[in-house]
Amino acid sequence: MLRTTPVPAFSDNYIWLIHGIGDPRKVAIVDPGDAEPVIKYVSNQELEPAAILVTHHHWDHVGGVQHLVNEFGLPVYGPAAEDILGRDFALREGDSVTLDELGLEFSILDCPGHTAGHIAYYGHQSLFCGDTLFSAGCGRLFEGTPAQMSESLGKFAQLPGDTRVFCTHEYTLANLRFASAVEPSNLDIEAYSARARTLRDQGQPTLPSTLDLEERVNPFMRCDQESVRSSAEHHAGHSLADPVAVFATVRAWKDAF
Ligand code: ZN
Ligand code: FE
Repeated sequence: MLRTTPVPAFSDNYIWLIHGIGDPRKVAIVDPGDAEPVIKYVSNQELEPAAILVTHHHWDHVGGVQHLVNEFGLPVYGPAAEDILGRDFALREGDSVTLDELGLEFSILDCPGHTAGHIAYYGHQSLFCGDTLFSAGCGRLFEGTPAQMSESLGKFAQLPGDTRVFCTHEYTLANLRFASAVEPSNLDIEAYSARARTLRDQGQPTLPSTLDLEERVNPFMRCDQESVRSSAEHHAGHSLADPVAVFATVRAWKDAF
């Protein structure tokens, strides 16, 4: 199993470090919004950064890139369709990233919705999905449409259920409060809420999640379920034609929740 370390940044970001398979002291850094906590962690643990993987252009995912490049001289991988300062390798769906030094290989999925050019890194039964999928939630639609985001989440749903999901924000408890408003009788949401609360009380991350779990608790991945549809229709006050319309309603509901 892939070894990873979440480095907390800002109020609720995680900068994931992916450890090399042959040499776990070598790490790839995912979405470094801030360089300081990464530099502190890698120097304390005597780790050796080898690459930076970026999912999208927001400051809380790229703000530390230049500083880390200056410090360690790292190659920067990022979405082809977005402006990423310092990017060396422009990636889009169908591409793969081979990090020889780390023994890691990821394939790239386009997942527009939160931003227009957002990508995810998939490999080693793990998905680094940036701000597309959160545990029990999904990213806000800053640059994309409900149809695009539904399609992106639908793409993730095609991956094996035991895929571990490395989201970049600790939003789980707040998302679960909304999820139980959408599906008050979903027992998986209730059980997960208790588990997540215990983890947070102990100062532990709730992440990574798995796709199996998300398919049971995440309203945004459940727009084809009768319970979510009827709840969204009740909220909207009219019937909704298809899962994309359900998604759009649930997303707008969450934005105002
Ligand atoms: Zn973002
Ligand atoms: Fe973010």
